Amino acid sequence: MNNKVRVRFAQSPTGALHIGGVRTALYNYLFAKKHGGDFLLRIEDTDQTRFVPGAEEYIRKSLHWLGINPVESPWDGGESAPYRQSERKPMYKQYAQQLIDSGFAYYAFDTPKELEEMRERLTEARVVNPQYSVITRLTMKNSLSLSKEVVDAKLASGEPYVIRLKVPKKEEVRLNDMIRGWVKVLSSDIDDKILMKSDGMPTYHLANVVDDHLMKITHVIRGEEWLPSAPCHVLLYKFLGWESTMPQFAHLPLILKPDGNGKLSKRSADQLGFPIFPIDWTEPSTNDFSNGFKEKGYLPDALLNFLAFLGWNPGTEQELFQLDELVEAFSIERINKAGTKFDIDKLNWFNQQYIKSKTNEELSKEILIQTKEAKIDCSENQAIKVAGLFKERITFPTQFLEKALFLFQSPTIYDEQVVKKKWNPEIAEVMEELAIKISETDFSGEVVKELLQQIAESKGMNLGKVMQPLRMAITGDGNGPELVDILDFLGKEEVVNRLNKAVLLIV
Ligand code: GLU
Repeated sequence: MNNKVRVRFAQSPTGALHIGGVRTALYNYLFAKKHGGDFLLRIEDTDQTRFVPGAEEYIRKSLHWLGINPVESPWDGGESAPYRQSERKPMYKQYAQQLIDSGFAYYAFDTPKELEEMRERLTEARVVNPQYSVITRLTMKNSLSLSKEVVDAKLASGEPYVIRLKVPKKEEVRLNDMIRGWVKVLSSDIDDKILMKSDGMPTYHLANVVDDHLMKITHVIRGEEWLPSAPCHVLLYKFLGWESTMPQFAHLPLILKPDGNGKLSKRSADQLGFPIFPIDWTEPSTNDFSNGFKEKGYLPDALLNFLAFLGWNPGTEQELFQLDELVEAFSIERINKAGTKFDIDKLNWFNQQYIKSKTNEELSKEILIQTKEAKIDCSENQAIKVAGLFKERITFPTQFLEKALFLFQSPTIYDEQVVKKKWNPEIAEVMEELAIKISETDFSGEVVKELLQQIAESKGMNLGKVMQPLRMAITGDGNGPELVDILDFLGKEEVVNRLNKAVLLIV
């Protein structure tokens, strides 16, 4: 028997990949890596009416950006190819037939109108679950209620039909979910789900179970919204004779809105002003554009670290985990049952931590791109210095230039509050004198500070009174990174010019 862990991310190409889907992919990836197993990607595109062009490519690009790539997929191939359900159509038919032949499924010929009438009838009669089931099936048109001759004639005439699961009458369907423990459902509460549609396409339930079996999936890790489908899947494994190799299930907790009130949706994320998709997406049918986490300036390792904690915790105080450390620490046992709030401030914090942990050289590349785009002259050496000065002061690398612009362009506006509170003719005189002194000496940021101290002392002022005006004269602002470093960056000529300009401009 093959015991190798094999898990899959079974995504439907119905639009952009939601951040919850990314978390599912991540947990599958971590679990596979942790156990030396395989992480597969399968495209579940049996519902052609919900197919969205570009969605599959979007999934590929998103996972690639995050570095959680599958080893087998529609684009990588693999031993269980093909990985698109639409390309596996003939395989499902055989198993649907097997279920019919063994009495676990049946043909149903009801028209949409007849189904609607059934629902109305049951609702009127106040039946709690008005569904096609063990209770109602004999009142409908199917191979259980009709004679064999009638059924054969219908099939021979090409009348449209679906194949339904024959759910047993009184049976407790049980599954031991790795996160939730035993889940027990009475078969009378499960409807006779359609397995094959009239167009010959399997439904999600049949295709999903057949594929998980054929692809030798050992663990099904997916969102909580699939838990209600799991008992039907358990029955299918049993009826197809695959019970002994049935995968273990782990249904992940919901991701909730920041206030904990309901599931996080695209609408709620839009309202609160943060992305919900990993990378930019334009919805083809409406042309609606959504900004991705990537383009907003989130780093892939920060996003992964954050997502890992959205429903799981390592049981220690440690919060920062690189992907390989997550693999090491991850375990399904430490996934919560309860939904987890999506806290964008926490994600921003992770992003800051990851920016801080990068070397100035690494970050300088982004700065060089930004300055080039803005047509600002910036050497590699300067970009490295900018990274060092600002990496602790930003949430997104995209903020570098906006924060550092004053290093490249002398200020024209000065902070009004500081001017009002700290600037006066006496200070202007100090700055003028400082400019002269600087021109006469060997330059460094420290030297400027010393000269300022001397001038202040000679006038009986303390350093505290003159430091902030100096900063404002140089940067236009009342606060920012270490002033000495800024002075060093600007150099003698620029500092003298800025001082003289400030003396002239600030009144
Ligand atoms: N195809 C389902 C989806 O798009 C996945 C269900 C599963 O993992 O079994 O979310």
